[in-house]
Amino acid sequence: MDTKHSNTLSIIDQLGRKHDYLRISLTERCNLRCFYCMPEEGVQLREKSVFMTSKEVLDIAKIFVDLGITKIRLTGGEPLIKKDVGKIIEELGKLPIELAITTNAVNVDQFIYILKAAGVKSINVSLDSLISDRFNAISRRGYFDRIMTNIELLLHHDFDVKINVVVIKGTNEDEIIDFINWTKHTNVNIRFIEFMPFNGNNWDWDKKVSYQEIMHQVDQKYGVEGYQKIQDAENDTSRNYKLKGSEGTFGIISSVTNPFCDSCNRIRLTADGKIKNCLFSQEESDLLSAHRNKEDLEPIIRSAITSKHPERGGNVAFKDFTTKDIKNRSMITIGG
Ligand code: SAM
Ligand code: SF4
Repeated sequence: MDTKHSNTLSIIDQLGRKHDYLRISLTERCNLRCFYCMPEEGVQLREKSVFMTSKEVLDIAKIFVDLGITKIRLTGGEPLIKKDVGKIIEELGKLPIELAITTNAVNVDQFIYILKAAGVKSINVSLDSLISDRFNAISRRGYFDRIMTNIELLLHHDFDVKINVVVIKGTNEDEIIDFINWTKHTNVNIRFIEFMPFNGNNWDWDKKVSYQEIMHQVDQKYGVEGYQKIQDAENDTSRNYKLKGSEGTFGIISSVTNPFCDSCNRIRLTADGKIKNCLFSQEESDLLSAHRNKEDLEPIIRSAITSKHPERGGNVAFKDFTTKDIKNRSMITIGG
């Protein structure tokens, strides 16, 4: 361990929240174009040099680990299209951390053995519909069959598979029960995510499907006797449930109607090397430039976390939000 950092083993903000979970976005690019994530006009392509190289990702990740990070999730854009991602996974797997990844699963088959060898146990896959044409319309591409085959492959290889479903009114809220029925005989964890506001995604309060609305559908279908609450893991963002006798589970991430800011332990590092201390924060700290200038990153990291707002990056409650209040990047350039 770098002795310079060895006596300062945690990153704690002003509210006493310990930050031990780093989400690294490997790229702003993606092989899908989900309408709620990627603006219709796309994102401005920038010079390669503004983004972290694989070596820089690893160097910076190691500094975070020295400061007490115990879990790293790779995300993006689509992390599995980053050049040298196999090497990044392999090297991060050698660190004393839990390594996880969020992916659209289009390329998962090419990385199964690398992920296994690196000790990755948990894989989050985004899948917003079980209907081929609908999924392909949401993601503006045609990979539904390939993704379903790759989910089967992950299950076959005993990965802990979480399926992220962004629920949007008029788009897929009629599939909530179909997704839950999938858990009856398959060990998947379905996580319904409330639609969140980001630049260019035409968010509107009325388009979200709330925790209450989802649970109402669950009650109507299965009755209160048909399912049970299960224990949520520490710092879990989802409230989790299980149908009686089912193999899998389901949960709801209610970032919009009931954010989980009190127990937030997350730091985000964007593909261009900026720290975002909250998904919804406007402030960013330029870690990559500092790293390239050979500066000490520890004070920059600590100061970024000290200035973290208590809730939603300091934004007003989303109920009062309109698109003009969205002063943030698009999700694809943050890393979900
Ligand atoms: N490409 C990978 C994937 O789709 O899993 C990783 C990046 S993606 C930005 C990470 C997660 O953010 C996905 O599960 C996606 O559904 C979620 N996401 C993107 N935009 C969102 C939004 N507006 N509201 C809620 N979740 C969103
Ligand atoms: Fe790509 Fe994931 Fe965003 Fe969809 S949600 S456009 S797969 S980064």
